Amino acid sequence: MRHFPIFLDLCGRTALVVGAGERAEAKAAALAAAGAAVVRHEGADLPTPEQLRSASVVFVCAGDPAQAAATAERATVERVPVNVVDRPDISTFVMPAIVDRGDVVVAIGTGGAAPVLARRIRARIQQLLPERLGRLAGFAARFRGTVKAAVPDFDQRRRLWERVLAGPIAEQVLAGREAEAQAAMVEAINRREAPPAGIVHLVGAGPGDPELLTVRALRLIEEAEVVIHDDLVSPDILSHARVDALRIPVGKRQGRPSTPQAEIEALLVRHARAGRRVVRLKGGDPFVFGRGGEEIEALRAAGIPFTVVPGITAVLGCAAAIDLPLTHRDHASALTLVTGEGRAGARPAMSAAPHQTVALYMGTRAAADVAQGLMAGGRDPETPVAVIENGTRPDQRVAFGTLRGLGDLVRADRGNGPALVVIGETVALARGAPEATSARQAACA
Ligand code: SAH
Repeated sequence: MRHFPIFLDLCGRTALVVGAGERAEAKAAALAAAGAAVVRHEGADLPTPEQLRSASVVFVCAGDPAQAAATAERATVERVPVNVVDRPDISTFVMPAIVDRGDVVVAIGTGGAAPVLARRIRARIQQLLPERLGRLAGFAARFRGTVKAAVPDFDQRRRLWERVLAGPIAEQVLAGREAEAQAAMVEAINRREAPPAGIVHLVGAGPGDPELLTVRALRLIEEAEVVIHDDLVSPDILSHARVDALRIPVGKRQGRPSTPQAEIEALLVRHARAGRRVVRLKGGDPFVFGRGGEEIEALRAAGIPFTVVPGITAVLGCAAAIDLPLTHRDHASALTLVTGEGRAGARPAMSAAPHQTVALYMGTRAAADVAQGLMAGGRDPETPVAVIENGTRPDQRVAFGTLRGLGDLVRADRGNGPALVVIGETVALARGAPEATSARQAACA
């Protein structure tokens, strides 16, 4: 270890920043954020010995190398810790790369030798540490006194904290559900025991491309002990789960009948009751035709804590994949998401007015009917449509046509993957849309 790491308490103490420019500004701002009284020295002359002596720490961001070196030398003589930007050789301390999560701070040093490496490590750690970790530290700090008073025995108290910080209470704080976490914490203190570790996260896996996972989804998948997943979730995404995680497919395809919804809900409850961290992984977003609503009802009824993590829903992924704007100030002022498989065969009621985009989910069977209904309601039969199969995946396929021909288009172009139908003027703007429709679009505009 070349440098000894410490965390300085600069609150109310003077920090001298020598030099002008962006880096000096940034340094001054960071120091002020840590509570330091920042003194700037922007002139080309050297700071006086008095200036240096009154500072607890000196940062030199001067453009002139001679000024920087002389300032560092003076500060060293005065025994004030000094850091010169990009000059570890004349600094008495070096600046680490920092991951800042409020009270939780990670500082990464590479002996001043390889700042780029430090930054790369920082990026990795940043991904690892949830954004709200600082809030979790604050949450724990607020309860520290109460827990100590209620649970005087040290070992019992440590066990309680371990279960709080590794369990559902912490997960709720990290998911921004502090009120629920607070209530659970009060209950834990009253019972002198933290709740069991079981929790269910309803996680949206997006349309397929693993890069479209949210940061939180990725972290929860990596931490899960049980992953209960739809068929729509691609193997690339599942591969992020731990090797020892239990993977339970509950989807329809691959020749199996789908697991009945009640059974899925029972699985969630059973594994969470056994104290496991369960991820219920769904294609797209859990609350867009994903039965997320039914599952959280079941979890609520069973008293199981849960969180919901949104995902990129199919229409957003598919549209981005083919450069299809879903709204457009000139061509579409509404976006409607409808299912072709409503219960009891009910066809969604939707407006047939022009200048709006319709995304039809699970719509290959219903497409012809839906098109008929829209045209009967007055929508132009020449309205462009796209059928996107396996959107955002390597085997993505797109077929373009018009509302009039939608039924045939869907029948002719049917693979095995999930397919989304998009109807609306802006389809003509998509990459690969036929010239004819584009020309027509231009005429309409
Ligand atoms: N919760 C999911 C939707 C589940 S319903 C979401 O938010 O996206 C299943 C339907 O979603 C499929 O029938 C298809 O219409 C659509 N879908 C899901 N993934 C898709 C993909 N990668 N490409 C095209 N359509 C997709």
